[in-house]
Amino acid sequence: MDEVEATVSPATWLISAGRPSEVGQPLNTPLVPASNYVLGSSRAYSRDDATPAWEAFEAVVGGVEGGEAVAFASGMSVAAALFDTLKVGASIVLPTDCYAGVVGLVEQGAIRRGWNCTRLPVVDTSAWIKRAENADMIWLESPTNPLLDIADLPTIIAASRKPGSLLVVDNTLATPLNQQPLAMGADAVMHSATKYMGGHSDLLAGVAVARDPALASELRKARELSGGTPGTLEMFLALRGLRTMSLRVRASQANAMDLALRLTDHPRTHSVRYPGLPSDTGHKVASTFMRGFGAVVTFEVQGDAAFADHVCHSLKIIRHATSLGAVESTIERRAAVPGQEHLPPGLLRISVGCEDIEDLWRDLKRSLDQAS
Ligand SMILES: *Cc1c(COP(=O)(O)O)cnc(C)c1O
Repeated sequence: MDEVEATVSPATWLISAGRPSEVGQPLNTPLVPASNYVLGSSRAYSRDDATPAWEAFEAVVGGVEGGEAVAFASGMSVAAALFDTLKVGASIVLPTDCYAGVVGLVEQGAIRRGWNCTRLPVVDTSAWIKRAENADMIWLESPTNPLLDIADLPTIIAASRKPGSLLVVDNTLATPLNQQPLAMGADAVMHSATKYMGGHSDLLAGVAVARDPALASELRKARELSGGTPGTLEMFLALRGLRTMSLRVRASQANAMDLALRLTDHPRTHSVRYPGLPSDTGHKVASTFMRGFGAVVTFEVQGDAAFADHVCHSLKIIRHATSLGAVESTIERRAAVPGQEHLPPGLLRISVGCEDIEDLWRDLKRSLDQAS
């Protein structure tokens, strides 16, 4: 496996790496549903030892992020394993706008293990630099979800840190096609592979990629002991998703840019956020290190939550559903999500998919134009 040179472009790597190369083997890594193997090789039991699809998935993701990948059953099981490396009384910095599951993990750690946590807006670069000096875990997310703020990742990552601390970037929204935090000096990145890697809303999976092989070993051990092992079918599907990720991300972020521009001009919307918009507060800094701006667009509708709900319910192509990163576009009123009540009531988040842009806009415009 892996005769592809690591110097090829990410788009080529995602398609070509992690394939069987022996004569007569299938071109794609086969789905092998097995919990155990005939003893005598490196594989014995599938909670401890990789199944073929999971091994190939890790090879492809590790190559594209530039580190050693460890696949898990979900994005949250990756986050749990990373936080589990922290000791009692550890100090943590999290973004103000941070994935709610991660916030939940840290709140539980505060109660059970005496962790202390500071929340900082990702745009406040100097506060992050200052706090990085004495934190045990610096956890970054950029673009943030759902507000789409941009952290100056290269600057924050380059700041001096406490020896032995971990700097992790949740790279789910950006994907490795748009930014590679390990190359900037981050210790690890994590992905909910449920999103862009899988890309079809039909699986749950996660992956950590570590720069230091010792951290990767620690995470593999955590996976084995917690049982957060990825399912065989999920890894087969996630690997298949990686093959088209570059195409999907390219198409969906072109659609996102177009929709963001059209939403900006619509009389019933305001506060459109998309880091690709030249007028967006995050655009300048994003342009210094991001190759593309992702495919999530957030905006507010004029009027109340009821009108925002009406928009969600009257759309026909854009589906009313949570989550993001799939070929199909989805929309959600984020303040309706438990734990997200602090968000503006009329804030809608669209995960823009790969449909024809004119169809997407016709759908959205018709819903917005209807009187509330
Ligand atoms: C979805 C998501 C997660 C959690 O991943 P699961 O696969 O749902 O466990 C973590 N971070 C971000 C940014 C996400 O979007």
